[in-house]
Amino acid sequence: MKTYDVAIIGAGPAGMTAAIYACRAGKSTALFEKNFPGGQMVNAHIIDNYPAESEIGGFDLAQKMFEQVSAAGAEFINEEVTAVKSGDIVEITTARGVYTAKAAVIAAGTVRSRLNIPGEDRLDGRGVSWCATCDGALYRGKDVAIAGGGNSAVSEAIYLAALCKSVHIIHRRGEYRAESSLVQKLRSLPNIVEHLGCVPVEIVGKDKVEGVILDKNGEKFTLPVDGFFVAIGGKPDQKLIAGAEKDASGYVKTDGEMRTSLPKIFAAGDNISKEVRQIVTACADGAIAALSASKLD
Ligand SMILES: Cc1cc2nc3c(=O)[nH]c(=O)nc-3n(C[C@H](O)[C@H](O)[C@H](O)COP(=O)(O)OP(=O)(O)OC[C@H]3O[C@@H](n4cnc5c(N)ncnc54)[C@H](O)[C@@H]3O)c2cc1C
Repeated sequence: MKTYDVAIIGAGPAGMTAAIYACRAGKSTALFEKNFPGGQMVNAHIIDNYPAESEIGGFDLAQKMFEQVSAAGAEFINEEVTAVKSGDIVEITTARGVYTAKAAVIAAGTVRSRLNIPGEDRLDGRGVSWCATCDGALYRGKDVAIAGGGNSAVSEAIYLAALCKSVHIIHRRGEYRAESSLVQKLRSLPNIVEHLGCVPVEIVGKDKVEGVILDKNGEKFTLPVDGFFVAIGGKPDQKLIAGAEKDASGYVKTDGEMRTSLPKIFAAGDNISKEVRQIVTACADGAIAALSASKLD
């Protein structure tokens, strides 16, 4: 089997940008993806903060990036990577076998976190969801709740408000972490109901979601809803970055050239330790990681 110059794990904006830059540096490039290309971008209904695109659907932006990746000449390998092993030659394991590369860029984003409350597992797929753009249409004209206070939760609540009768947004803090422009948009919508300083403690329903029990300063009450969305952020998949130095929250530490603590392994995008997790920052990380990886022989 051929040894690639650069192997990239994850075809979100970080991985796709890395692929474009590695190909342009003249490197043979493999881009591994377990789903379809786009990453979390495809969950964004509208993106209005990516330069030169004043308003674009996340799916459309993902498709445009992937067309550029294909034109640049990257080899797209639609397989899930189960392990990346650092060494003189980097080994990338999938269910089909072991691929080799001179360097690897881990751009696998994050796995959505769970609330770990009663009812969440039992009603998963029966009213509990982690993706508003995937499942929102199932709740057209119905009442739903969404837990979270960051950009994803607020933008998903805005998306759901266009479909649902009412959208209850539940956030444990008194203020959102989301950008103020998103919060302004949220608050302009008539069918949004805010529950700040509230913690969801149980999702209830016999065979499907019928409500969620909230705790506000020790006082509990039930909110009757047909759907419950979890949007409380995520964590990197720890098995892919096993052995690399991480911060206290489990994100990979990188230096200015996107090097991890493991030789020949670079990382980029949402899975690294940083403040701003956005498409434009993921792309920037990917470009730097690919150029650093391309310098290795
Ligand atoms: C609802 C929502 C709305 C958003 N809106 C905006 C917005 O308007 N503007 C903005 O800038 N940002 C927005 N974001 C954030 C933005 O999407 C992320 O910051 C960005 O996608 C991170 O890019 P990434 O490439 O690091 O990771 P991801 O986009 O998460 O991509 C990682 C990729 O790696 C793949 N992968 C993971 N593990 C493996 C494996 N083991 N093997 C193979 N492939 C693997 C995944 O399938 C995925 O395709 C939004 C996010 C969400 C959820």
